[in-house]
Amino acid sequence: MVDKMGKISDEYYIQTGEDTIVTSGTRFPDYQAELMYDNRIRRGYFAYLRSNALIEIEAAFNNNKNKSRAEIIAIMAEIIRKQVANKIYISRHLVGHAADVAFPKQKEVFKIIVNNLGGKVVKEDDHWHLQFN
Ligand SMILES: [Zn+2]
Repeated sequence: MVDKMGKISDEYYIQTGEDTIVTSGTRFPDYQAELMYDNRIRRGYFAYLRSNALIEIEAAFNNNKNKSRAEIIAIMAEIIRKQVANKIYISRHLVGHAADVAFPKQKEVFKIIVNNLGGKVVKEDDHWHLQFN
């Protein structure tokens, strides 16, 4: 992913003269848990695809609501770590197959570059999520 991201930003710079702002790359379970916790508090729900992995993490959150933010994050991270050990990934960021970028100014140009490298662009609230398989 680091490699692909480098190619994408180089190519985008060549074509447009603009930089690519990467806001998130490979994540480790602790950081993934923190992001999910904050996301859940902010939105009131987990903005993730419904999956068994999500249900497990969600249950950990719901069953520990009386605990502190740090404690809940640690519990969620432990579950994510176990899932990763079993090759179950709540986010492609955990396997280094995803990155987030700030919306590029020249969206079409950017999208074509990503597609040409075998990736796809998913629009999120305030960024684009790039995913490679
Ligand atoms: Zn993402």
